[in-house]
Amino acid sequence: MLRIDPHTHSTHSDGTDTPSGLMQAAAESGLNVVGLTDHDTTAGWEEAAAHVNATGVSLLRGLELSCRWENTSVHLLSYLHDPHHRELVATCERTIDTRKTRARKMVEKLSNDYPITWQEVSAYAPPDGPVGRPHIADALVATGAFPNRNACFEHVLHPAGPYYVHHWAPDPVDATRLIRAAGGVPIIAHPRARFRTKSPLPLAVIEAMIEAGLAGIECDHRDHTAADSDAMKQLARAYNLIVTGSSDYHGTGKPNRLGENLTHTREFTRIVEQGKLEVLHP
Ligand code: AMP
Ligand code: MN
Ligand code: MN
Ligand code: MN
Repeated sequence: MLRIDPHTHSTHSDGTDTPSGLMQAAAESGLNVVGLTDHDTTAGWEEAAAHVNATGVSLLRGLELSCRWENTSVHLLSYLHDPHHRELVATCERTIDTRKTRARKMVEKLSNDYPITWQEVSAYAPPDGPVGRPHIADALVATGAFPNRNACFEHVLHPAGPYYVHHWAPDPVDATRLIRAAGGVPIIAHPRARFRTKSPLPLAVIEAMIEAGLAGIECDHRDHTAADSDAMKQLARAYNLIVTGSSDYHGTGKPNRLGENLTHTREFTRIVEQGKLEVLHP
């Protein structure tokens, strides 16, 4: 039985481990396979791939595409797609670009009440990468106003709060088709993680994504209750979809620990069979 954790982040998005640090941490956690799925970028793949042999950990290359349905943020994991697929690259670039405009607007609003600047926030974000609320949180924590990222999300960074601004992101149904067109395996991330959105994603939207080629559902995730996880497994079974579980590790940016949720080898094999690229083994 392999230990497979298919959803993690590095410093190329909002994680705090470099890709090589992540591979090292994966080895120390006894993982056999780790999935690197930074938000809207594959920039960390190369460095992670260079550490497969030294760490003995297999690398599942992926990304977590930001999508938006009405005012609800939807995260769509893509595995083993062509990283040069034009339209997918263009979509990620557009999202990264509008993330920057959006973060600037949020910082402008926040700076009326907290002593933070855009310069400070951008120093925490990956250069030319996706800037997100976690990087704004890092600047807020540095002022001493909040103890950690989570406290910022519970207060000033909450979507229902006065400082929140949306960014452009693709429709999840279009994005599902796009990932398939790029040879990727689209798996919806933590669909029941309600607290991070204004409203839960309606079942009808997930069903439209399934119609468009959705390959699987991330069921076991710390932001799901046991009932959420069971409901999503039932849905996956009904449509013969892949079932995954993951830590969604962000280094020190979140309490999530590597390997706290895993994906069964049988389900991992289904991802591998459907992807354009291969998993990199030691
Ligand atoms: P954004 O993409 O800018 O809207 O920010 C969302 C990101 O913030 C997600 O990818 C999460 O990793 C992160 N996030 C959400 N809630 C929390 C939290 N309570 N503590 C730390 N990070 C969080
Ligand atoms: Mn994140
Ligand atoms: Mn996510
Ligand atoms: Mn994630």
